[in-house]
Amino acid sequence: MLPRKLDPALWRWVRLWLSECELEKFRTNMQRMQRLYDYSRSILRQLEPQVLQIDEKTQGYLQLFRTAQDLALAGPALSMLAELDGAHRLLDADAARLLEPALAPQTALAGALYLPHAETANCPLFTKQLKHIAMSMGVEFIFGNSVSAITQNGSKLALHIGETSFATDAIVLAAGAESARMLKELGINTPLFPVKSYAATAIVKDMEAVPLAALTDETYRVSITRMGNRIRLAGTAELASRSATMPDIAQRTLRKVGNDWFPHAANYNHAHFWCGLQATLPDGPPLIGATPIKNLFVNIGHGANGWAMAAGAGKLVADIISERTPEIGLDGLTLARYGMHTG
Ligand SMILES: Cc1cc2nc3c(=O)[nH]c(=O)nc-3n(C[C@H](O)[C@H](O)[C@H](O)COP(=O)(O)OP(=O)(O)OC[C@H]3O[C@@H](n4cnc5c(N)ncnc54)[C@H](O)[C@@H]3O)c2cc1C
Repeated sequence: MLPRKLDPALWRWVRLWLSECELEKFRTNMQRMQRLYDYSRSILRQLEPQVLQIDEKTQGYLQLFRTAQDLALAGPALSMLAELDGAHRLLDADAARLLEPALAPQTALAGALYLPHAETANCPLFTKQLKHIAMSMGVEFIFGNSVSAITQNGSKLALHIGETSFATDAIVLAAGAESARMLKELGINTPLFPVKSYAATAIVKDMEAVPLAALTDETYRVSITRMGNRIRLAGTAELASRSATMPDIAQRTLRKVGNDWFPHAANYNHAHFWCGLQATLPDGPPLIGATPIKNLFVNIGHGANGWAMAAGAGKLVADIISERTPEIGLDGLTLARYGMHTG
């Protein structure tokens, strides 16, 4: 969804986004993100057995194409995927229904793409566990406060929360959609823009009727995930709206996707609906690491894939600040891709 009136920053975002749709640029951006996805997965593997129990995990990801036309439109992306993820499989409708027996038979399905290595997990639970581990290592969290400004005095940076200032050795700015404004105040312009996205979470009423893996309805761009005894539908996008309201059409779309594919899994009319802002860059990959300002680092622009890239991005930032050599190349993942000097 696009707003009726575009502000100049949004014009710039849309123009850059359109230019990034060109096939070769799209390929480059996909490769950059894939590098980070793969790295994040390997970091999660290291965290999982030692300290983290990511329960409610599902393995495998199925992208559903309702019509032959949807499938044809995805052609270029699918051939690119063949280069990036050799394990993926293109399935006809029967094979997809074998993998996901609860898919409603009456909903038209032209084919599906199966990604066996992709996985989903409970992100809030992971974050809470991580917080406890960090606290046990001496990290202090200050919740419920807003950073009003970051100021620079020579090579020293300070954080301001209300009347209180905190002198810092280093700052990692990871304030989601607010990050663009805070960077701009420091003279750093990024084409970061909030994209509003919607979700519905419903209690499962029949465990026999739920999906086994995670799925996306590629026609409506809505993902379907089971998380324990809940089923979550998420997707659709609205540009340039910061309001916390959810338009009827977004609710209807989420309910339709749920009812079309897994009608007996839950009563979607009773779902809990919510929305949030995804800080999104027009070319796709996030921005990680150094900025033109000494001791100021960023971890921003994860768009719709923050969970998928978080572990790797966090480790990269930690390595960069600690002056360790990052374990993967940073090419295309830093502010240098917008022509900025990153030290
Ligand atoms: C409906 C929906 C569904 C999604 N589903 C998925 C999914 O299935 N898989 C996936 O990988 N990703 C998903 N995402 C995307 C994912 O949520 C984001 O990519 C991720 O949250 C980005 O993390 P972040 O920490 O960069 O930003 P955020 O999560 O936006 O966090 C930024 C934080 O900074 C705080 N902040 C902002 N300004 C200030 C300030 N001045 N002072 C102090 N604090 C401040 C905010 O309060 C917030 O807590 C979804 C997003 C939405 C909205």
